[in-house]
Amino acid sequence: MFAGHFSHRTPSKPAFILSERSSMNGSVINRSVLMLNQNYEPLTVCSAKRAIVLMFQGKAEVIANADGMKIRSVRKEYSLPSVVRLWTYVKVPHKRIMLTRKNILTRDNNQCQYCGTHKGPMTVDHIIPKTVGGKDTWENLVCSCARCNNKKGDRSPEYSGMKLLKRPYRPTFITFIQRNYRIDDPWKPYLFLDSKQFTTIT
Ligand SMILES: [Zn+2]
Repeated sequence: MFAGHFSHRTPSKPAFILSERSSMNGSVINRSVLMLNQNYEPLTVCSAKRAIVLMFQGKAEVIANADGMKIRSVRKEYSLPSVVRLWTYVKVPHKRIMLTRKNILTRDNNQCQYCGTHKGPMTVDHIIPKTVGGKDTWENLVCSCARCNNKKGDRSPEYSGMKLLKRPYRPTFITFIQRNYRIDDPWKPYLFLDSKQFTTIT
């Protein structure tokens, strides 16, 4: 009679767990690995540990290894992955970056979009002030140092005479990987950061 009830329980975790006895180094196993979808689009960044579990489960393949880095289990030595790819395509319909204060600052690389400084407490500024109908949107919010925010006050840039370094935009997931992680060389082709393009995208 409880069958219906129990069927709602979370399925148990996969049986494969990295052996505690393995001599895998904690920091190595937590290194970031770029996970690609089956179609080679970046899907997420996970730990090397998670990537290895997926590989052992036959769910992912290695695309590139981290240069010269090895991990050791009790019996074997493995190359540490840097990029893995899932065998099955994962549908991610609404992968949008949430509009939050932290994400605005991340998009703008913690750089004041008026004076260019990276120093000091940063605030989020409404380019068109709220008082005159400015909205909470990616296009209307920028990282601003407290000094510039004070100076600008409740005016639009056209009235305050303050120019923006660049036009604010809705960031993509790829922007966030670029900002939040140390980018290994093997990641670059998948983040559109090939050596040629690297100098033009900042
Ligand atoms: Zn400033």
